[in-house]
Amino acid sequence: MTSIAANLQHLHDRIATACLAAGRDAASVRLLAVSKTFGADYVVEAVAAGQRAFGENYIAEGVEKIQAIKASAAAPPMVEWHCIGPVQSNKTRLVAEHFDWVQSIDRLKIAQRLSEQRPAHLPPLQICLQVNIDGGANKSGLASHEALALAVQVAQLPRLCLRGLMAIPEPAADFDGACAVHAQAKRLFEEINASGLLPAQMDTLSIGMTADLEAAIHAGSTMVRVGTGVFGGR
Ligand SMILES: *Cc1c(COP(=O)(O)O)cnc(C)c1O
Repeated sequence: MTSIAANLQHLHDRIATACLAAGRDAASVRLLAVSKTFGADYVVEAVAAGQRAFGENYIAEGVEKIQAIKASAAAPPMVEWHCIGPVQSNKTRLVAEHFDWVQSIDRLKIAQRLSEQRPAHLPPLQICLQVNIDGGANKSGLASHEALALAVQVAQLPRLCLRGLMAIPEPAADFDGACAVHAQAKRLFEEINASGLLPAQMDTLSIGMTADLEAAIHAGSTMVRVGTGVFGGR
């Protein structure tokens, strides 16, 4: 086994163990492989090991990789691309044309542009709102109290499909601390779903990375975003 394949296997074991401990079905948590800074050859290797969903932070780098993968001789089976980094207005068209998901929406204006620019031949862009769940200064993401209003607005945009929330909390001192902050994201997710204001329930809570995926799964994560644990240090 290559090391990426071995790393993926190890992560699936970690996810399964965390789900077992939390009394959850292991199939209820998806693994997003964060390939930022790693070349297309790393993605090809992960695809060969069965990984299908990849996350990119930087638009230009991501689009270049997406095009390289699509054009590669060993055309991979359906690969899904998630934009998980900040999206400026002048990059929305590239994102709308190349990505399948955007997890980093924190402003209506960006969502509106993505909806307008999403090509008609593609399915709607799948969206998560990024919430600054622990209120860290200088961090992107909506304040928690703004999330419901934006969710309602985004859910009405024709070429977007609201799927859930994403958060990147500061590293916690220990497991209990990490569980506590992830639990805030879970509570917000449930409050928005219970509001009765959305046309459809959100199904995606994107929390947990290499260091804290067990705590995130304990709190209710349905998607962990793992870079270092799949591809090694950056
Ligand atoms: C880089 C990144 C990750 C992955 O972080 P690791 O600690 O390498 O697993 C997850 N989510 C976002 C938004 C990131 O920018």
